[in-house]
Amino acid sequence: MEPQFINDTQLLPAIIQNALTGKVLMLGYMNREAFTLTKQSQTITFFSRSRNELWTKGATSGNYLRWTSYAVDCDQDAILFQVIPDGPTCHTGAASCFENAPELGFLGGLENLIQERLTSANEDSYVWRLTQKGTAKIAQKVGEEAVETVIEALQNNSDRFKEETADLLFHLLLLLNNQNVTLKEITAVLHQRNQSKAQ
Ligand code: AMP
Ligand code: ZN
Ligand code: ZN
Ligand code: ZN
Repeated sequence: MEPQFINDTQLLPAIIQNALTGKVLMLGYMNREAFTLTKQSQTITFFSRSRNELWTKGATSGNYLRWTSYAVDCDQDAILFQVIPDGPTCHTGAASCFENAPELGFLGGLENLIQERLTSANEDSYVWRLTQKGTAKIAQKVGEEAVETVIEALQNNSDRFKEETADLLFHLLLLLNNQNVTLKEITAVLHQRNQSKAQ
């Protein structure tokens, strides 16, 4: 589906979202020409309402937004772009104009919660207590949960399989934190592999 412009001056809102994390980066407006340029160039061009001219985001900062896909809403008057940003999107230097916009959905929130538990050093927290035992113990838990996940898969027990997969994911998040690696970095590795396959 394509956006429907009533005339050459009508502006439609364009929501820009990080293709890897789902984080909303900014909102801009496009007229027909901006949309056409965006489509042809793979780089987001808005129509600036304050400057009253076409605005290729990144033209002066170098922080272009490269779109990978887009979708229009139910009545074709709003556009949602998935992009790979070259750098921070906000002119303040923040990754997103919505500075605390969530990313990576629920798992991203869980990753943040784990960090909060470690920062607050709460003795009642399982996360804190396990993490205090060090890398080898966390890694061992990941190994155990992986084995349990495999066993339940082989048993064809869907409910148990979901539980063990949840355990595995959770402990993997703990290990990622322990190794100072983020879910976003893992997503980037997976994306990179997709890219090299496509070429
Ligand atoms: P840029 O398009 O990144 O080269 O930035 C050019 C100018 O556009 C900046 O100096 C700001 O005035 C404005 N600008 C850049 N990024 C944003 C943004 N995310 N939201 C609003 N204004 C922006
Ligand atoms: Zn609409
Ligand atoms: Zn901004
Ligand atoms: Zn388990």
